[in-house]
Amino acid sequence: MKKVHIISHSHWDREWYMDYEQHHMLLIELIDDLIQLFKDDPEYKSFHLDGQTIILDDYLQVRPENTEIIKKLVRQGKLKVGPFYILQDDFLTTSESNARNMLLGEIDSKKWTEDYVKLGYFPDTFGNMGQTPQMMKQIGIDTAAFGRGVKPTGFGNQVFDNDKYSSNFSEMHWEGPDKSKVLGVLFANWYSNGKEIPVDKNEAKIYWDKKINDVDKYASTNQLLFLNGSDHQPVQKDLTLAIKVANELYPDIEFVHSDFNTYIKELKSKLPDNLNTITGELTSQETDGWTTLANTASSRIYLKQENVKASKMLEEVAEPLAVFASELGLEYPKDQLDYAWKTLMQNHPHDSICGCSVDEVHQEMMTRFSKSEGVAEYVANRSISKLEQSIDTKQLGEDGNSKPFIIFNTGSSPKSGLTEIEVAYDKVLFTQSHQSAPDTFTKLDSNQENNFSVFDKNGQEIPIFNVSTRVGFSFELPKNSFRESYMNKFVKFSINVKEMKSYSWETYKLSLNKSKLRKIDHNLAISKNKIENDKLKIQINYDGSLNVLNKATNENFENLLIFEDSGDLGNEYVFREPLNDKRISTKNVEADITILENNSEFVKIKVAHRMNVPVSMNERLSEEQRSHTDYRQRKAGRSKEKKILIVTSILSLTKESSVIDIKTEFNNQMMDHRLQVLINTNKKVDKHYADSIYEVVERQNKVSNKWKNPENPQHTHAFVNVHDKKGGVTVSNIGLNEYEVTQLGEQIKVTLLRSIGELGDWGYFPTPDAQCLGIQSVSYAIDFHNNDEFYESLHRAFSRQIPFRTVISSYHSGVNPSTKSFVNINNSRVKITALKKSQASNENILRFYNLDSENQNYELSGTNKKTTDSNILEEHLGETQEMNLTGYEIKTLLI
Ligand SMILES: [Zn+2]
Repeated sequence: MKKVHIISHSHWDREWYMDYEQHHMLLIELIDDLIQLFKDDPEYKSFHLDGQTIILDDYLQVRPENTEIIKKLVRQGKLKVGPFYILQDDFLTTSESNARNMLLGEIDSKKWTEDYVKLGYFPDTFGNMGQTPQMMKQIGIDTAAFGRGVKPTGFGNQVFDNDKYSSNFSEMHWEGPDKSKVLGVLFANWYSNGKEIPVDKNEAKIYWDKKINDVDKYASTNQLLFLNGSDHQPVQKDLTLAIKVANELYPDIEFVHSDFNTYIKELKSKLPDNLNTITGELTSQETDGWTTLANTASSRIYLKQENVKASKMLEEVAEPLAVFASELGLEYPKDQLDYAWKTLMQNHPHDSICGCSVDEVHQEMMTRFSKSEGVAEYVANRSISKLEQSIDTKQLGEDGNSKPFIIFNTGSSPKSGLTEIEVAYDKVLFTQSHQSAPDTFTKLDSNQENNFSVFDKNGQEIPIFNVSTRVGFSFELPKNSFRESYMNKFVKFSINVKEMKSYSWETYKLSLNKSKLRKIDHNLAISKNKIENDKLKIQINYDGSLNVLNKATNENFENLLIFEDSGDLGNEYVFREPLNDKRISTKNVEADITILENNSEFVKIKVAHRMNVPVSMNERLSEEQRSHTDYRQRKAGRSKEKKILIVTSILSLTKESSVIDIKTEFNNQMMDHRLQVLINTNKKVDKHYADSIYEVVERQNKVSNKWKNPENPQHTHAFVNVHDKKGGVTVSNIGLNEYEVTQLGEQIKVTLLRSIGELGDWGYFPTPDAQCLGIQSVSYAIDFHNNDEFYESLHRAFSRQIPFRTVISSYHSGVNPSTKSFVNINNSRVKITALKKSQASNENILRFYNLDSENQNYELSGTNKKTTDSNILEEHLGETQEMNLTGYEIKTLLI
């Protein structure tokens, strides 16, 4: 007998086409209605709270007096909570953000009930990450439900073995790259297929005849799933009656008001053995390419940049520093960090981080980012000042004319490169000075040293560059007394830091004595067009593009770094180029090239382009937007009026590096367009690699034969790489999540800006802020590697996202040595993502994953050799037997 499971829910985008608070107020009404309905109708069994515990926090923030009622309804199984904290976008949030959402979600779910919803719930997520099966297994869940990414073909349509994104049924096996498998449930008729069920018999007959047929087409069992709700859908109050009517109409079908735990249990007992297996990430590659939503990766790039900063501040600055400091007895600020994480994760739903809401939503997001960063900054500074006191600086050799300082690589990958450091080498306390602050300022300012030198811990002098000084205010907040204000003398300089291990520090001494280093005449730039260092020979062409010789592989790369501007008549979700439009390119247009710095350690060159860009699309676009014309049907062209867009790039290269670091800046005064940078790879290959969630994902360059979109946008975090047997190119970035690789792999394009004027989707919502007017500054790099340096080049990309941190010290002895790596893994195919304290105990958590498909042995140094196996939920799983990772494995250890 067929059984129809009707599950009531409302998909709750916390913010989207209205600002957060307007949606929030709607939520209060929804939950109020539910409370009343549970009272009025004892047969109304349950309501699914959209897989996110935050919904109840949001409600109780306004109606705290209803806490007990809510608790009771959850206990009675009427309100269904969990398993996640919030519904996040998978791809535009970091690996750790995805894991923390599961961890904090489980903790919050369990506070409500042990019987929370055991379903990986991704109803509206814009594509699904390939490691979902493994992550679900680690949180004790063996089923995932999702709305996108897989093409259901319906029973009878053949699905071929290589057709990894298609399934005959709405139920399927989903296998991750590590071979973990879960049951996948696709909402083939969307998560609203059971909304507004009629109670009128005639209407109900028409409704169910069609709906049952639609579900039957894909269902592999006689357990049919209907989701009674949609986006912000008010609760259907006469559902009990509607179910009664249905049961009367169809005596041979059983209609029940169900819930996910029940449905999954019954579904599993009936599953046939001919389900298809889909593998890896689900990104709608079998569609016509217009609905992948991947262009949200370039919508409002300022959000993405801020997200990298805020996420990395927590993951690779505040948490590791707090762990180091806790070894010295400083309390680990767990609650403060949870608060910062939750604040950050409130920016991670698909309508938020994807940049596809109205302006008010994204304005509030910027405040949340800075709140989360503020907590992380406080935790980092508090930890670093504790650490500073513990580090033995005496070893540097104290003398009256110098000041020790400490450089930290707080990140989980080794790091080297140029950094700018500011050291306060003299200070006058306001309270100690007999002079007024302005007089102190004037005195300090008139009496400044010009001679500085820097020494490492072995007493070896190391070169510094771009030295400048200033006088300025600063303050301290002592723990047991009132605040102290200072006038400081600062010196700022650049230093080329040689490779520092993960989670490490190094001590240095700033001396007020003249440098004894002999000036080296061998500068990296031979002329303003020719640069050579240990690894690369670069020629800057007259149009500002680069020809590069990778000395290790003897390969030539030509015409890298071309900028290209295209019109965009799409919306926040989709880029659409006007028909027959000519792109504006910097190729063969003369650029302005200036050497900014040129010495033996590094070179900095400025390349400026003038691009003549239309000011916007023409008037027709506005009409097409207002009349809600589908973006595929739009005919608007670019405006005839043009303005000059000056695109300035600062290229830097250090002596021993294979990475050309680029910062591009421009003042965007144009609307409805996209700016990309094009980097030729000199390769002909059919696949490329990108940074996804706990995965270096391999993607095909060629699109499927169903693909109609002229573009093939994809998302990444830290890098995209194209290589062959000889070597390749890694293009890394900070907050530039969208790229394309051409079909033959010969070019990587990274989107630097997308300016659009409307939200899109189901109506017309203007979004002037999404034009991203004003000064934009973007950061990326081109790394050339030979074939056995592939993984090192990925680590260089990871480490670019974590700036060095410096603290000024004084001479003292300490329990910590002058240089140390807290934890280090000796295998470059392993990437650490977390060093934190466990939620439940005082143990340290270390999480890492295998970047490769092969088994990896690893060794930990700097910490206990004895470790305990754990998982995303930080459970104890017994002593680690083997220091080994299987292909693509994500491992969590208690150390
Ligand atoms: Zn949604």
